Parts: sequence; structure tokens; C-alpha cells
Amino acid sequence: MSQLLFQGVDGVADISESLRVHNLSTDHCSLSTVPEGDELHEECGVVAIHGHPHAAREAYLALYALQHRGQESAGIATADGAHLANIKGMGLVSEIFTDDVLAKLPGHLAIGHTRYSTTGDSALLNAQPIRVDSTKGLIAIAHNGNLVNLGNLRASLERDGAYFQTTSDSEIIVQLIAHSHSGTLVDCIADSLSQVEGAFSIVMMTRDRIFAARDPRGFRPLSMGRMKNAHGPDSIVFASESCAFDLLRAEFIRDVLPGELVMVSQDGVTSRQYASGVPQSSCVFEHVYFARPDSRIFGRWVQESRDQMGRQLARESGVPADVVVPVPDSGVTAALGYAEEAGLPFRMGLIRNHYVGRTFIEPEQRVRDFGVRLKLNPVHNLLAGKRVVLIDDSIIRGTTSRKIVRMVRGAGATEVHLRISCPPTISPCFYGVDTPSKRELIAANHSVEEIRQFIEADTLAYLSLDGLLQSVRDEKNTGYCTACYTGNYPTQWVDVEDILPAAVTT
Ligand code: SF4
Repeated sequence: MSQLLFQGVDGVADISESLRVHNLSTDHCSLSTVPEGDELHEECGVVAIHGHPHAAREAYLALYALQHRGQESAGIATADGAHLANIKGMGLVSEIFTDDVLAKLPGHLAIGHTRYSTTGDSALLNAQPIRVDSTKGLIAIAHNGNLVNLGNLRASLERDGAYFQTTSDSEIIVQLIAHSHSGTLVDCIADSLSQVEGAFSIVMMTRDRIFAARDPRGFRPLSMGRMKNAHGPDSIVFASESCAFDLLRAEFIRDVLPGELVMVSQDGVTSRQYASGVPQSSCVFEHVYFARPDSRIFGRWVQESRDQMGRQLARESGVPADVVVPVPDSGVTAALGYAEEAGLPFRMGLIRNHYVGRTFIEPEQRVRDFGVRLKLNPVHNLLAGKRVVLIDDSIIRGTTSRKIVRMVRGAGATEVHLRISCPPTISPCFYGVDTPSKRELIAANHSVEEIRQFIEADTLAYLSLDGLLQSVRDEKNTGYCTACYTGNYPTQWVDVEDILPAAVTT
């Protein structure tokens, strides 16, 4: 018999139902995603708050700052020492959590989650936090990352009588906790985490405690901070990125360490190392693209890393030009570094329309062709007659890059030199980043010269792997995962189908 009872959305089905609008589709119009699938997506952002009278509101603010890590669904669970409430919905944080909804989340403890799905589907059932009534008591969990030994664990748990309610890999962790024979809850959690392989930065909550943990390799970031309270002990907060602390006026304390499990209760903060001896392999792509430049992750400011990537790119593959133009927003910091190093003017020659939402009304199929143009528009007077160095952070399938190069040339640029602030992406990610399979990655199947021809740039150059690693180097010698650039995966488990190159056609 299963040891778990899943309770879905805890009596707020009306709220969740009303937010399904983004799944809407009719005969005459549909809601489509912007742009056309040539961007990479992070899976999730997580937050946790301990010891704040308005924990739900603080979690909401932190999730708002982490919205870039996932826009499909969001959720907040709160606890007041006796009860545990949980509300989640499809859509953006600000769409789901109105004042009325937040008022239904009492308590001084909260965890929150914003999701872009890569494992499991994007249905509300798989939105997080997941609340579980188990033999170990009520637990809510929110998870960033991907487990890679899912199949084996799921099969062995099912043999032990586990009954899975979702396809989310976070449920595996809770099932392992419920099935653990260790004596205390914290031992059960440590036992569970030591059995899973892959990437996870996790926050968990019981009626009166918060837990935060990172996988032994430290793939995904997770930071700990402190908020001063005028009339009582400090609140302890956790967030995927430190930019969330700024909105809360929280002070950054430190990163949760790889393989560390932190527990916060009314007695204070305790920590244990549940796993050690595994080399750190934090995701270097967080520095290249995902994390916000105003965040400090893996012990280093993202802004500083991107600036260095741009400078290194200029040193490695500088080209005579008149102006440096970023592909906004993520290419901006690297472009600033490139321009300074190359002694060239930096110009915002492409403008991003920030008011294009996650979705747009698509009355007719032909609108799909406008995908990139809905999002980016050239500034003609900055580009006309200029030799342009265009800085972007990745080329995935190549189709979006080609449209951008055409757009810049169409605005009158005489030359377009594309520079990419990381090495060619040749292999998919299994650790929480939604990359296509090897067959669809242009750099996995074509030379740099072939890609240049495809995207119609005058020249194309990528940052070297050495240059990338040099750009993120710190005094602690943090170890990085670079598998999407090398194909060398830090874990044993990968999906063989996904790493097969494209079939050779004649
Ligand atoms: S494969 Fe790439 S995106 Fe995935 S964790 Fe490693 S560096 Fe990050």
C-alpha cells in the first residue's frame, strides 16, 4: 500500500482552474509561445522563507524576481506551525498571486516555486510546491533541476508499493523520504537525497521547519540570506539566485554548499553534509545565459563573468568594425565587455519589446513567421552603413540567429560579424535545461564555417572553452559542468537517444 496521499491544490481548485487560460485554444485563434523555440529554458526557480509574519508575501516577491527561471506555473506553500496551505496555478507569478490569493496563505513559513517544465508535462498537477501527506507527516517540496536515475528509482519504489500521482521527479524524492527507515525526518531526507543522481536544488517545508539542499555536484545555484526583523529573530531565506534577496532587502549570507542539507527551525539553523567526495560541477551556462547579471551564484557575480566572456571574445576573435551591438537582453553584458576591450562604441542597435508576453494571439498561421520580429526590432540609424559586431550567447538550431543577422543587414549594416559568448552547443543537457536533442543542435552536426553560411553572417566566432572557463575562474577554483559544449557528462546516467548525432544523409 502507498505510504503517500497526494492532495493536489488543497481546496483552491477554483483559483487554479481560472488560471488555465494559457492552455486555451479555439478554432479561430490560439495562444502561441514567443519566440519560435530557438531559446533555451531553465526549468525552475525556488525560494523559502522561515520566521516572517508575512511569509507568503515575501515568497511572492522573491518568486517575482526569479520569474526568468520559469513562466509556465508558480506556487507557494505556507505553514503556521499547525497547518500547511498550498496554492499553485498556470501562468506568471503576478497573474496567480493577487492580494486575495495571498490572503489564503497564512503562516510564518513559506516555500515557493516557478516552473518551466522539462520533465513531466506542464499540467497543473506537476506544478510545485508538491504537498504530500506521508507517514513522516506533511511535507511540501519545490525543486530546481533534473534527476537522471528516475526510471530505476521509480521502478524500485513502485515495487515497494509507492503510488505516483505526478510525473514530476520531485515526487521521487518525497517518496524516498516516505519509504526511508531512518530514525528522524532530517535523517530520512539525507537518506533520500543520497539515493538520487542528477541536479537538484531543493527547498522543503513541514509544519514548523524549512529544509534546503543542493545535489553533491552543485549543478544548480541556491543561496541563503537573512532578513532583519524589528521585533524578533531574523528571518532566514533561501533563493535560487541572490537577486531575489534584493527585493526582500535580505542580506546574502552564503551559498548552500554542494551536498549540504540545511535545516531551519525555531531553534535556529543547523547543517550537515549528506554527501561529499564528488567533484563540483556547477552549470557554467547559468553564468553564460540563465542567471540574472545582478545575481551572485557559485560564489561569483554573473555580471562579472559575462563581462569577462565579452572581453575574452574580443581578444580571441576581434574583427575590424564600427560598432558593437548586443542581442538583448542576455547578450548585453558580454557586448559591453567586448566593446571596452576592443575599443569600439557599444550601441543598442536592437530593441527588445518587453511587452510581448509569454504568449501572443496568433490569428493566422503566417504570424508565426514574425516570431523574432515581434520580439526584436532594429534601430536603423545606428546600424545603417556600419560594420557591426553582433554579440549573442548561443546558437541552438540556427534559425533565430539567421533571422537576427538578416534583420541587422536589412537595417543597412554593411557587414555583420556574429560573436557568441560561449563555445558551440554540441550536446543536450540532462540537468534541468531544456535543450533539443543532438540531432537538432546545429553545432553538433555542422562546422563553424557551415553554420556561418547558414546564418548568413560575414564572420562567425565562438568563445573557446578555455576562454569560457577563464572567464568564470575564481580563487576557490569552482568546478563547472561544460557537458553541452564537450559531451562529457559529470554523471553516469544520460539518455543515449538524445546524444546521437544527426543521421548522415546522402
Ligand atoms: S550540460 Fe550545459 S546547461 Fe546542462 S548543466 Fe551542464 S553546462 Fe549547464
